[in-house]
Amino acid sequence: MQTPHNEKKILLHCCCAPCSGSIIRRMVGEGIDPTVYFYNPNIYPREEYERRKREVVRDAQKMKVPFVDADHDADLWFEKTRGHEEDAERGERCGMCFEMRLGKTAAYAAEHEFKVFTTSLGISRWKDPEQVTRAGKRAASLFSGLIYWDYNWRLHGGQEQMERISREENFYRQRYCGCLYSRRDSIQRHLSKLPQDQSAR
Ligand code: SF4
Repeated sequence: MQTPHNEKKILLHCCCAPCSGSIIRRMVGEGIDPTVYFYNPNIYPREEYERRKREVVRDAQKMKVPFVDADHDADLWFEKTRGHEEDAERGERCGMCFEMRLGKTAAYAAEHEFKVFTTSLGISRWKDPEQVTRAGKRAASLFSGLIYWDYNWRLHGGQEQMERISREENFYRQRYCGCLYSRRDSIQRHLSKLPQDQSAR
């Protein structure tokens, strides 16, 4: 695994423990020194946000890697995505969501002398990795000398490793991406699969 400029100190934006668990282990195994950065104001409701964060903190402690807790900023997230409530997943709203989260990660990286940052967002098969990469590169371009590492974490068995680590560590596994709208759509999908008499309850 080759980091940009062979940089060992990496700021890793983590969306949730199931996505970041295998990435942290791969980095540590390769002699890379990740710092976990948690900035996910998209996650709704607040209890769900706290639950996902607790799992990332638990794993960071286990792996003995630093954890940085950023703001929740839920009002700002709703403000930025206003008008996109009905967008499908992988649509424009997701692009804005990635840009907001990776924009703040890039700012933190620049302020704290990280030269390279990346994210766990693209490892999920539900996400469009190119959309994630575009957002990461755009965020990096705002800060002189900062690089977004666009490594494809799904490759070389990454997807399978992610599933395995999640099971082994008994991570909480959410049923929706994160925001209010993805939660709504997930519930609707679930209800549409139920027989009529059950869905009416
Ligand atoms: S579906 Fe996921 S990536 Fe898209 S806006 Fe909602 S939380 Fe963000």
